[in-house]
Amino acid sequence: MAGHSQTLEPFLWRAERIYPDREVVARTAEGERRQTYGEYAERTRKLSNALEDAGVKEGDRVGTFCWNHDRHFETYFGVPNMGAQLHTINPLLPDEHVRYIVEDAEDRVLFVDPSLAEKLASAYEADSFGSVEQFVVMGSDVPDVSLEPVVDYESFVGDNSASYETPDIDGEQNAGMCYTSGTTGKPKGVEYTQRMMWSHTVAMMTPQALGVEDSDVIMPVVPMFHVNAWGMPFAATAAGAKQVFPGPSPEPADIAALIEDEGVTITAGVPTVWLGLLEYAEENDVDMSSLEKVVIGGAAAPKAVIEEFDNLGVEVVHAWGMTEMSPVGTVANLKYDLEDAPYETKLEKQGKQGLIVPGLEFEVLDDDGNNIAWDGEEFGELLVRGPWVTTEYYNRPEANEQDFEEEWLRTGDIVTVDEDGYIEIVDRADDVIKSGGEWISSQELENSIMAHEDVSEAAVIGVPHDRWQERPVAMVVTPEGTNHERLTEELKEMLLEDYPKWWLPDGFEFIEEIPKTATGKFSKKDLREEFGDKDLIDKEAADEEAAPE
Ligand code: AMP
Repeated sequence: MAGHSQTLEPFLWRAERIYPDREVVARTAEGERRQTYGEYAERTRKLSNALEDAGVKEGDRVGTFCWNHDRHFETYFGVPNMGAQLHTINPLLPDEHVRYIVEDAEDRVLFVDPSLAEKLASAYEADSFGSVEQFVVMGSDVPDVSLEPVVDYESFVGDNSASYETPDIDGEQNAGMCYTSGTTGKPKGVEYTQRMMWSHTVAMMTPQALGVEDSDVIMPVVPMFHVNAWGMPFAATAAGAKQVFPGPSPEPADIAALIEDEGVTITAGVPTVWLGLLEYAEENDVDMSSLEKVVIGGAAAPKAVIEEFDNLGVEVVHAWGMTEMSPVGTVANLKYDLEDAPYETKLEKQGKQGLIVPGLEFEVLDDDGNNIAWDGEEFGELLVRGPWVTTEYYNRPEANEQDFEEEWLRTGDIVTVDEDGYIEIVDRADDVIKSGGEWISSQELENSIMAHEDVSEAAVIGVPHDRWQERPVAMVVTPEGTNHERLTEELKEMLLEDYPKWWLPDGFEFIEEIPKTATGKFSKKDLREEFGDKDLIDKEAADEEAAPE
């Protein structure tokens, strides 16, 4: 007979009893906020009571539209512990996606940061968000925005009792939800059960993954709206580690100051963040001596970043994952017999996406559906399965058909596997663009550009970029005699009506014809081959304006 179910609550129960004085620190718009696990646990129970009073029941969804801070962290346990589902929403998405996501998930309560309230209000149109019964602003007052009914977090949680009887939740109960916009079409919702989140948490703490200990000070720079900040806040709580939340849009100077002041030992984020920090550290006196590990994921960790951190005595832990996988799947830790390998060999292994995390299985299939050899040369699509990998999307039967083979998730990543078992991504099956760790839909941009009367055809491709890893460039075909300068300006203006600034292509290239595949589709592969390494980007614009905000 199995014992009590695999749920998140025991992690907090343990942290509260064994580490009541360990701190949870946050940089917020109101200044620094500090509490202990003891105080934190009480606030999560007050929050559960407040949500219950607001009518939230087991199985309901509660949305958050927030940066990384302590109150957002309170929802991480406060919501799942009552059997409800925490749905984190990416505030960097175009309004139309936000609207779709809230409506698809039918969130009943929505928590929003003061600095994001206006953005949420712009996505919130008459008759939209029909399911939302209460907006809660993360602070102690309410800004002047058209979200109704609205209350501030401190009044909402306020005088509620700090004792809360956790219902008898099963491991199969949904606890979390996050949408992914990776492939074309509408964002797809991934639901995380208590068991998925529990097993991911336990796996993350092991040395084969991130190796978290109670002596650690953990700071997720990866946003908490991205698959629970890669699960770091749960792993940190489970281990009894101190936690540091960097707040809204942290600049390199903020990250550096928090590392210094709080003694951060493990931090995590996309490559763009670390490129920014390293650049800042070159020009400023930054003490990173407390830092032991930087987890880099979401996009490939550049070798130069791994080397630069290495020179500072900081280990880069390169990880790969997906929203569908809670999210971590591989970690590029060095195997025991590589510890004494030549530096170049170690660097090569760390630059790969890594070894499968214990508990998961994978296979790599070539075009004929055969398993590839583990020789670092043959390649194919990576499929994964395991306790924290989803087997379906919410409400999307057609995507389910395409992306899953029974229990196996088709990742869309094309990989090699070397003799030591290290997986390396060499390509992607879909024509998608990831800029600074955030998806941009090439298909949506193309459709919008082609809606202009002076455009005959348009294809958008991702081209490599030092800081953002990839940036979109539009290849446009026009009728003869079109004034391209005028058209470029018009297209930019038009796109800005529907998309955030960071979605705008950094180059518009006017060409004779878009190459097509045998079936008549745009051949992005040919376009990338022909133009991918040309100087297509307005470099200054990309550096300044591509920041997702
Ligand atoms: P998301 O669901 O938004 O987390 O995106 C998942 C996708 O991001 C993966 O399928 C990969 O294509 C890409 N990705 C994530 N981590 C890495 C990494 N370390 N290196 C390269 N690509 C990555």
